[in-house]
Amino acid sequence: MSSGGEGRSLAFQLAVYFSGVFGLISILGGLLLFHLVSVHNLDEIDDDITRQKEELVRLLRDGDAVAVREEFTAGALASGTTDYFVRLTDADGKVLMTSDMSRWPEIVKAATLLDREDVGTSRFRTVDLPDTRRKARLLSVRLSPERYMQMGISLESNELFFDNLRHTGMLILALMLGLGGLTGWALARKAMAGVEGVTAAATRIADGHFSERVEVAGQGREIDRLVATFNVMADRVQRVLTEMRQVNDNIAHDLRSPLTRIRGLAESAVVDGTLSGEGAEIAGSIVEDCDRLMLMINTMLDITEAEAGLGGLKLAELDLCELVAQVTELFAGVAEDKGIDLAGQCAGEPVVALADRRKLQRALANLVDNAIKYTPAGGRVRVAVNCREGRADLTVSDTGPGIVLEDMLRIFDRFFRSDRSRHLPGNGLGLSLAQAVAHAHGGAIEVGQVPDGGSVFTLTIPLGRA
Ligand code: ADP
Repeated sequence: MSSGGEGRSLAFQLAVYFSGVFGLISILGGLLLFHLVSVHNLDEIDDDITRQKEELVRLLRDGDAVAVREEFTAGALASGTTDYFVRLTDADGKVLMTSDMSRWPEIVKAATLLDREDVGTSRFRTVDLPDTRRKARLLSVRLSPERYMQMGISLESNELFFDNLRHTGMLILALMLGLGGLTGWALARKAMAGVEGVTAAATRIADGHFSERVEVAGQGREIDRLVATFNVMADRVQRVLTEMRQVNDNIAHDLRSPLTRIRGLAESAVVDGTLSGEGAEIAGSIVEDCDRLMLMINTMLDITEAEAGLGGLKLAELDLCELVAQVTELFAGVAEDKGIDLAGQCAGEPVVALADRRKLQRALANLVDNAIKYTPAGGRVRVAVNCREGRADLTVSDTGPGIVLEDMLRIFDRFFRSDRSRHLPGNGLGLSLAQAVAHAHGGAIEVGQVPDGGSVFTLTIPLGRA
């Protein structure tokens, strides 16, 4: 899961963290256990050998040679010649008595190991048996100045046990890593579910859906507080925006009547011929300015109406190919006058969407009007319809100057006009209206750059019910 944006998701980080902690605890626990078991095991083996040594020493002291010999063979038979040996040597290392040593080659004699030690000294050693991967535990004892005894026990079964313990440990470690990762991931998912809700709502609000709120779903005090605070903030933003728009709308409404009156007076002065010369000219430009202001006011009110959402739409089935044909025909004359090659493109099949014909036509007309207005003579403007995954894209591309990146972020704002286009007629409301219409249909509008430098606007609406 990626929650988008930079860096790794918190779920991933927590999964790695938990996995690491679980793994470390398992490794430390495993090592400690391994150490304790191996120490304990070796103690047991040493005790065992010591017990056997003491029995032999007792028999030797009693001077019962037959019993000693029997004990030698009995011990070796009971444990197996590969697993056990015992031998008696003199100070020169000459063997006085021994069990079968055929499987115990090259064991250093006790006389060599202990020749400088006091009588009664015994020493344990762990040795590697040559030509095998076995280890053995060796007890060398100096019984008297002239006599040495040596016993050995193979540690093979012991090592087998530790091999098994190691394998089980690895398995437990792998399980702990997996379990740790899973726990971290699940915890982060649970904790982040609320935050993701807030992020989704914030994204929708940023897209202009100001009524979006997040449900307080009892996901823990901190998240619930974040959600509640976020909702309060969203309420305030919506209230301020609504009030601002109401003020705008009221001003627009209130301006309409005096403007109409002023226009009427100026027009009748021109028509009646009561004014002449400069006076008539001034009256004429008053009529023009009033028309421009009226258009601006009406567009502002249209944007407000479109932003009110679906309630203001008159939805009906509409063939978008036909819409494109109508709009291109509408602008054919203007394009021709300016020397611009304007054409509509449609796959052939009708693309039917549920839409408000008048509003969508106006939005598309604004895009085509801009494309023609901002593209120099000799340029090309294309209007196309494309379908994808239940949505239709209305695309208007041109070979004009394109739009710089910092302007792209603002061109859909009301009254925004880029510095490069101020010398051309316009009021900065055309794209705001197109965007409001797209949103009202449950769609969106995007701007981009075409490879040869012009701009491309894509108005997307759902094909089914908006
Ligand atoms: P107007 O065209 O009335 O200025 P719009 O809202 O339609 O207002 O457009 C806003 C701004 O976006 C324009 O002032 C212009 O700078 C830029 N713009 C829009 N369409 C294009 C285009 N096809 N090519 C270049 N710039 C464009």
